[in-house]
Amino acid sequence: MMLTSNLHSTFYILHSTIMKSLQGIPAVGGVGIGPLVIYRRANLNGANAPFAAGKSESERLADAIVAASEELHALAARVRSEIGDEQAAIFAAQAMIAADPSLHDSAAQLIAGGSDAPSAIKAAGEEYAVLLAGLDDPYLSERAADVRDVAGRIERILRGQRENLPTLTQPAILLADDLTPSETATLDPKMVLGIGLAEGGLTSHVVVVARSKSIAVVVGLGQLPADEEASAILDGDGGRLILAPDAATLAAYQQRQQAAAATQQRQRGLREQPAVSRDGVRVRLVGNVGSVADAVGLAEYGAEGIGLLRTEFLFLEHEPTEDEQAAIYRKIFAAVPGEIVVRTMDLGGDKPPPYIDFGNEANPFLGWRGLRVGLERRDMLLTQLRAMLKAAAGRKLGIMFPMVSTVEEWQAALAMVKEAQQAVGKEQPSELQVGIMVEVPAAAMMADALAAECDFFSIGSNDLTQYVMAADRGNAHVASLYSAAQPAVLRMIARTVEAAHAAGKWVGICGEAGGDPQLTTLWLGLGIDELSMAAPRIPTVKEAILSHSAADCRELAAKALACATLADVMKLL
Ligand code: PEP
Ligand code: MG
Repeated sequence: MMLTSNLHSTFYILHSTIMKSLQGIPAVGGVGIGPLVIYRRANLNGANAPFAAGKSESERLADAIVAASEELHALAARVRSEIGDEQAAIFAAQAMIAADPSLHDSAAQLIAGGSDAPSAIKAAGEEYAVLLAGLDDPYLSERAADVRDVAGRIERILRGQRENLPTLTQPAILLADDLTPSETATLDPKMVLGIGLAEGGLTSHVVVVARSKSIAVVVGLGQLPADEEASAILDGDGGRLILAPDAATLAAYQQRQQAAAATQQRQRGLREQPAVSRDGVRVRLVGNVGSVADAVGLAEYGAEGIGLLRTEFLFLEHEPTEDEQAAIYRKIFAAVPGEIVVRTMDLGGDKPPPYIDFGNEANPFLGWRGLRVGLERRDMLLTQLRAMLKAAAGRKLGIMFPMVSTVEEWQAALAMVKEAQQAVGKEQPSELQVGIMVEVPAAAMMADALAAECDFFSIGSNDLTQYVMAADRGNAHVASLYSAAQPAVLRMIARTVEAAHAAGKWVGICGEAGGDPQLTTLWLGLGIDELSMAAPRIPTVKEAILSHSAADCRELAAKALACATLADVMKLL
């Protein structure tokens, strides 16, 4: 029997009279096995005394907004110390939403029209959320959940209700229509075996926060089961929720869990071992980092340092000061003893901060982005360069620029590094390397001229692939073109490596392809010196390097470069 929900095109499959499964979208990998607890928000409203009873409804509203802002600031501070700055920024942003006069004004108008304060804030929040949800921009439309979260918090305060996630008394899989970011932040990873959401998007904050807590997540289940179950499986890799699994299914998943644990155990034994091929070629394995929490987590996976520190998270809400930036860089550098390469702000494209006017760009990825922004907003780039130089005082630092297209841009950027060095005086790194990301085909074609002047190259395969193939990295229609293993992309990469090595410079890959274990032999064969990736991918990539010889991989790479099609390359791999 198969019922299809037209809203989510989700399948509800009845395998037998007892075992059912719901298919959703895999969001955070891993397997959770245990009882199901279903969180139905409407059922959990245990009201206490109403907030600020005796005052007028508009006074109650104003007081509740202040109380909500205070709660959110406190939550941001707690999350900052327990999880990291990136996640804390969610609640700092929510505090700003709570203080937004337009939310207050529309609720006040409804009160003037006869509504009570809780209903008014609920309706005003909903109106604002619906407006955001209707926007084409997926980032903004997913912020509708934050607005509902904030309005719901104010409403709960007014009604005198507590935050009402169920308290888990034993480890369980938690199901809900959706979870607010603040609800997710309060979840205890020891008690939550997995999260299944009827709704939710892949870039929603629930997913971001759950990933940082290593909780498996499936989103878009479409519906929730009618009843809680004593036994279920949440498969974060396959995007499935299996209810009341039969003995054979349960055993199969338990085996998967055991195999994953055994792999982890084996890989933990390799943590301190460098990645050296069977014939002695060493590849540096380093981590991609986008928050303090990422940096803290690197050591666990044996990362030798940071190959790409994405700094945009500092610029999302407001323009950070030099001191604010230096404080965060110091925290990150302190957490990582090895090499560190920081990328200067890569703003624009799909990451336009709200306080810079990007105008109405028809093609933002081909527009004012990366270094192009920094060369015009010199004040911002110089501030960032000073902050990172100061924070790295006394240790080795690499700085690289995103989206470099010409030698002139590189030269202008290098001149700014020198200007920042003069400004900071004695507070300098003990050794400084300055390089570029090779992610625009023009830079790959001019790699010989650039290599003569840069200290290193880091290949941004995510963008290089999209620009070489003219295939938007986020567009599902062109996903079949978008592969770093396309022969055209491989030839660009080979050319870049040759130019770097001819000039005696090192070259790394820091795009997703660098951490794809299926492609590791190709990178080893092409002579890549460093692979930078999300830290959890390091152990598997290391095993691939340890088990191959570079000489064999060079033969493989030569064959791949001679391939006419992606299919031919994939056959080789
Ligand atoms: C890349 O383009 O490969 C890269 C690492 O940069 P980002 O993904 O941040 O654009
Ligand atoms: Mg890029």
